[in-house]
Amino acid sequence: MDHHHLTHPENDEQFTGLTVNSGVSQPPVVNPYLRRRRKPLPSATELVEGILKGDTTMLSRAVTLVESLSAEHQSVAQEVIEKCLPYSGQSRRIGITGVPGAGKSTSIDVFGLHVLGKGGKLAVLAIDPSSERTKGSILGDKTRMERLAVHPSAFVRPSPSAGSLGGVARKTRETIVLCEAAGFNNIFVETVGVGQSETAVHSMVDFFLLLQLAGTGDELQGIKRGIMEMADGIVINKADGDNIPRAQLAQAQFRSALQLFPPTESGWKPEVLTYSGYYELGIEEVWEMIDRYFEFVNANGYFERKRLQQARYWMYETIDEQLRRHFFDNPSIASMLEEKEQRVLTNRQSSFTAARDVLDAYFSANFPQ
Ligand code: GDP
Repeated sequence: MDHHHLTHPENDEQFTGLTVNSGVSQPPVVNPYLRRRRKPLPSATELVEGILKGDTTMLSRAVTLVESLSAEHQSVAQEVIEKCLPYSGQSRRIGITGVPGAGKSTSIDVFGLHVLGKGGKLAVLAIDPSSERTKGSILGDKTRMERLAVHPSAFVRPSPSAGSLGGVARKTRETIVLCEAAGFNNIFVETVGVGQSETAVHSMVDFFLLLQLAGTGDELQGIKRGIMEMADGIVINKADGDNIPRAQLAQAQFRSALQLFPPTESGWKPEVLTYSGYYELGIEEVWEMIDRYFEFVNANGYFERKRLQQARYWMYETIDEQLRRHFFDNPSIASMLEEKEQRVLTNRQSSFTAARDVLDAYFSANFPQ
């Protein structure tokens, strides 16, 4: 033991009165039994069988694999998705957006119960870009959608958290496939109405619903024109009590604003309605509007056309994401990037030649001449 004391520099004579003890070696895991309690990974076949039977525990586990960053999990997940694809597509996919406080959770709870009242099943998924940076997810809060969360025919899943918006969106898109294979004929995809995530949601849903509030002065609330242009329906929430006249005024303003927009690709004219999620007023009317939309796009062929366009879009998005991952996750590329970045920042190399050097190194390693 004694020589341990001597090895520490502060055990030298000049530090008299001070003794640094050597540490006690620690077992590698605190609880050696913890590992054993982990459930074994089900096979792709087991997961698919469970999903097709509508087993939500198996569905949940498969979604966890879709969201996982591990290569082993991803390969099982991709096999499950592949096998579920033939059973997918039979649903109404509805995107719901609105700024924080617009009443998304209150409304989704009420809309959800309303649609479940007609039979069938409902999955509520989310794309929340904030969870990526802050780890705290706006849409992942467990207390939201209290009634749906405990409903036997509902599956509520918070936003996947890791990765870029593209990665998060792809996972949600893949989760839709699994949910549909499990018999969920209504899919809600929720997002916060503040940024780019609307485009991602718009690219995976059939109907895009924008929740708005009235009576905050600026009636259009700086909602980006692009988001309004994507909307198939705008619903003004909190049309209750004293707020009813203001909600109706906002409705008129939104209606006239929409008239200035170019005609939609579907030929559908976006509608503007008022309702109250909290007091459950006007819910049936919102749902009737959505029914009318589906009738309209089924009849004119747009429904099918849009789904095909979305499938093509996701093919390219997936390629894009996997290419980035392959590139940026490569350790030698990562260290080369670090070095090149320093050179660019200190004016020793131009950004173009730095980029070319890194890409050359990447391509020659992957596609040797
Ligand atoms: P989210 O952030 O978009 O999910 O919004 P929430 O659903 O959490 O609602 C924000 C606040 O608005 C909550 O305090 C709700 O109780 C309230 N709220 C939601 N819907 C209505 C409504 O229809 N009428 C009124 N008066 N308040 C509502």
